[in-house]
Amino acid sequence: MRRESQVDRRKRTAQIIAALGIGYPDAHCELNHRSPFELLIATILSAQSTDRQVNVVTNDLFHKYRTARDFAEADLAKLAEDIRRIGLYRSKARNIQACCRALVDRYGGEVPRTMAELTALAGVGRKTANVVLGTAFGLNLGIVVDTHVARLAQRLGLSSESSPVKIEQSLRQLVPVESWTAFSHWLIWHGRRRCTARKPDCPGCELRILCPSAAKP
Ligand code: SF4
Repeated sequence: MRRESQVDRRKRTAQIIAALGIGYPDAHCELNHRSPFELLIATILSAQSTDRQVNVVTNDLFHKYRTARDFAEADLAKLAEDIRRIGLYRSKARNIQACCRALVDRYGGEVPRTMAELTALAGVGRKTANVVLGTAFGLNLGIVVDTHVARLAQRLGLSSESSPVKIEQSLRQLVPVESWTAFSHWLIWHGRRRCTARKPDCPGCELRILCPSAAKP
């Protein structure tokens, strides 16, 4: 098969973006939150857990702990108990408390708005920072690469990389900056509803004619 030029890949990406925008006009972050702070905590909790599990836990958690200070001053064992339905709950409790102590000490309990400040917080990597910057603050400073985005980027032939950082670099060269946040929401929705890891629905897929991995009918 002829190697696709970067120009052609950009054009195909634009068509993919158009199709996803039509297919998922309401795509949004599915972690329930009412503030940047709640989204930060929910995203820390979401590592290797489903959004549904996190939403069940945060439904009670955000009534009990309302501010960064509440988490910072909590009894660590009790906090861990409050999130124990989520995987890795002990280390997540430690990270959330350390993160919230830093928020209180350095930012008056508010969530900072830069990649460098966010990724310096405990439990916050580039993916979590991108979620908060894009969804909570509307800043297109990066593209969230979770398991769905990584899988879809590869299947759609938009990246041949395997590490999230390199996949994000590939996507940043193809997707217009104003669409960075929406693009990750679209791919996550598509990955959950159509192009699942185990059973992609190629015959019913909106992207079939644009996808090099489409199963032959
Ligand atoms: S055509 Fe198949 S592999 Fe390609 S995005 Fe659609 S479901 Fe996924």
